Amino acid sequence: MGAIVAIVGRPNVGKSTFFNRLIQRREAIVDEISGVTRDRHYGRTDWNGKEFSIIDTGGYVVGSEDVFEKEIDKQVELAIDEADAILFLVDVESGVTGMDEEVAKLLRRIDKPVFLVVNKVDNAMRAADAVEFYALGLGEYFTISSINGSGTGDLLDEVVKVL
Ligand code: GDP
Ligand code: MG
Repeated sequence: MGAIVAIVGRPNVGKSTFFNRLIQRREAIVDEISGVTRDRHYGRTDWNGKEFSIIDTGGYVVGSEDVFEKEIDKQVELAIDEADAILFLVDVESGVTGMDEEVAKLLRRIDKPVFLVVNKVDNAMRAADAVEFYALGLGEYFTISSINGSGTGDLLDEVVKVL
C-alpha cells in the first residue's frame, strides 16, 4: 500500500478542505469504512514523484463535548498506529483551543514524524498570529491556506522527505 499520511485535528480546522486539495484530479474518495473507523476517507496522491496514501480523519460525532473529545482521541490513536507521518492541523482563526491541547498531548508522546500545520493562513497578517501555536509544545510549525493553496508546497516538500 505504500506510505500513509494522516490528517488529524479537531473539527472545523480544515482537514477535509486540505485532503480534497491533495487528491484533486486524483482518485477521489476511495474508501469509507464503517464501524470503528467510520468517517475516515482514504485517497492517493503524489508529490515530487513520491506516491502516498492520505487519510482524512473525521470525528463528526454529535453529542457532548466529552464524547466529541473521545472520538477525536480515538481517531488520533488510529492515525498514530496506521500512519508513517501525521499532519496535525490547527486553525489560526480560532487560535489554540483545549481540544488542540488534548491532541497535542497525544502527539508529543510518539516517535513518528508529526507536522504541526497552522491552517487558514490566507494572508501575511495571519502568519504573525500563528506564533501562539508554539504553546502546543510541538516545535516548529508550517502555515498553509487550504483554500488558496499557499504554503502547501513547502509543507509537502518536507513531508515526502520522511516517507
Ligand atoms: P474539517 O472539519 O477539519 O474537515 O474542516 P473543513 O475542511 O470541513 O473546513 C471547515 C471550514 O473551514 C469550512 O467552512 C472551510 O471552507 C473553512 N476552511 C478550510 N480551510 C480554510 C482556509 O485555508 N482558509 C479559510 N479562510 N477557511 C478555510
Ligand atoms: Mg472534515
